[in-house]
Amino acid sequence: MGESIDAMKKRLEFMKNERQQKQAELERLAKESKSTGTRSFLHAILGDNIATQELELQHMTTRAEDIKSQIRKLDFEIQQLESDLENRKTTSPALGRIFCRYCGVENETDAIFCKKCGKNMT
Ligand SMILES: [Zn+2]
Repeated sequence: MGESIDAMKKRLEFMKNERQQKQAELERLAKESKSTGTRSFLHAILGDNIATQELELQHMTTRAEDIKSQIRKLDFEIQQLESDLENRKTTSPALGRIFCRYCGVENETDAIFCKKCGKNMT
């Protein structure tokens, strides 16, 4: 448990921010593909070659799938970090709880020796 709670919080904030950016990118892509799709449709009506637009749309779809899987991964990591943080908080001396590292019993935050096993708490 080398990472401090502050560092974890920062990492969590960073990941949430990244997730937001990806979501925005996905929405931008959706709009873009819609207009490309419309263009492609108009070209088809006019009898033009639609191959370029089709390819563009394909690339967008691939990119969107990619972003979606990145978001899913981020969601998973965020969830894990949040539960890690929750666990850390409940065992943090700062919040008035401390556990013996030998027997696991909860002690007073200023305890020098464990009240159960008597081992050194400091
Ligand atoms: Zn103990």
